[in-house]
Amino acid sequence: MRVRAYRFRAYSSKTTARVLETQLEAACKLYNALLHAEQEEYEENKRTMSMNELRQLALDLRKQNKEFQALHSQVAQQVADRFYEARQRFFEGLANKPKKKRPHQYLSLVYPQSGWKLSNWREVGLGKNKKKKARLRLSKIGFFTLVIHRDFPLEQVTQVCVKVYSSGRIYVIFTVEEPESQEQTLDEPAKVVGVDLGIEKLATLSDGRYLENPKPLERSLERIRLLQRSLSRKKFLSNNWLKAKRSLAKQHEHVRDFRRDLFFKLGALLAQEYDLLVLEDLDTEGLIQKGVTRTRRMRLYDSSFSEIRALLEWQFRKRGKLVFPVPAYNTSRECFLCGRINKDLTLADRVFVCPECGWTVDRDYNASLVLPKRAGWVPPTVPVELRPIPPLPSLGLKRRQGGAMMQEAPRLQLRGSSQRVHEPAG
Ligand SMILES: [Zn+2]
Repeated sequence: MRVRAYRFRAYSSKTTARVLETQLEAACKLYNALLHAEQEEYEENKRTMSMNELRQLALDLRKQNKEFQALHSQVAQQVADRFYEARQRFFEGLANKPKKKRPHQYLSLVYPQSGWKLSNWREVGLGKNKKKKARLRLSKIGFFTLVIHRDFPLEQVTQVCVKVYSSGRIYVIFTVEEPESQEQTLDEPAKVVGVDLGIEKLATLSDGRYLENPKPLERSLERIRLLQRSLSRKKFLSNNWLKAKRSLAKQHEHVRDFRRDLFFKLGALLAQEYDLLVLEDLDTEGLIQKGVTRTRRMRLYDSSFSEIRALLEWQFRKRGKLVFPVPAYNTSRECFLCGRINKDLTLADRVFVCPECGWTVDRDYNASLVLPKRAGWVPPTVPVELRPIPPLPSLGLKRRQGGAMMQEAPRLQLRGSSQRVHEPAG
C-alpha cells in the first residue's frame, strides 16, 4: 500500500476560523501538558510512557479540563500520538528532543477516522476551470468549503488533517492508502528525452527546447528582506510580530506555489510528449554546500532541483512511463560527439567547444544530449536550434514595475542573517 495526500484549499466563516484557532491553542496546551507529564514520570520513575498510556492520559486530561473538552476525543488522542512520534524520532536520533510548543507553532489538527463528513458536492466553473466544491464538517469545529480541484478516492481516506498555514490560509489534507499502481515497463521506449537542470536555463531538453529559470525567490527577495527586517523589529510574539510573520509567510508561500506550479506544468508537458525521461542523479545538498558564492548558493536553492526532479519523476510514473537517472559525473564536460572530457570548461563558459572534434553547441544542450547517451540511447547528432518553451499557460508571477527588481541584481548579496529566509523543504 502506498500513502498519498490530497490537499485542498478550505474556506470558512470568521467564526469557524476563530473556533479552529481556539482549538489549536487547546491542542497546543494539551501537547505541552503531555510533555510535562512525561518529564515528571521520567524524573520520578525513570521510565517513559507507552503510546497507549499517553493516549489514555490525553483522554483523562480532556475529562478534567474544560478547555480540552472543546477538542473531539480522537483529535485529543492524536495529539498524544503526535507527541509519541516526536519522542520516538528523538529516541531514534532523527530529531531533537520534543520541546514545549508555542501556539504559533501548533498549526494542525488531525481527525483519524471519525468526526468528519463531506457533503453538498457541487460543480462550479466552466470549461477548463471546472472543479468541484464540497462542504466538510469537522465535529466540534464547524463547516469548511473545500475546492476539490482533483478527484480522490473518498472511501480510502484514513485521516483528515486541517492545517492553518503561517500565512493564514487554511488547507484540508486527506490521507489515502492506495494500492501500489502497476508500473508499466516499455520494451522499447519510443520517445526519449534528456533533461539537464541548471541555473541559467532551469531545464534544457535534448530536443533543443529550454525553460528559462524564473528565479522566483530572487525576484521576491527585495520584498522578503523588507518583511524580514520589519519582523525582526517587532516584539517577539506580540500581535504586530504575528502580523508581520504572516505577511512574510505569505510571500514565501507565493514563491513556493509559483515553483510547484511551474514544475507541475513542465512535468505534464514532458510526460505527454515522451515515454522515457533521463535525468542526472544529482546530489543537490552537496551542490548547494559547494556553491562558490552566496548568490550562486541561493540560485541553486531557488532552482529547487530536488523538487523539480521529484515532480517530473512523479508525472512520468503516474502515467506508467519511465524515469532513468544516470550518474551526474562530468555530464556537462563530456563531448556528446566524441566522448572526450573537456577539462577546461568552467562554469562561466556558456558554449561547449570540443578541443578534439570541434563540436560546438550550447553547454546545457550538450549536457542534455550526453544524458540519454549515458542511458544507452543516442539522439540525432545534428544540432537543433535552441528555442525557449513558450510561457506555460497561466504562469502567474507578476513582474514588478517592468522588472525593476531584476536590474538591481548586483545588490543581491545575501547577508548571513538572511539565511533565515529559506523556507523549510517540502
Ligand atoms: Zn568532441
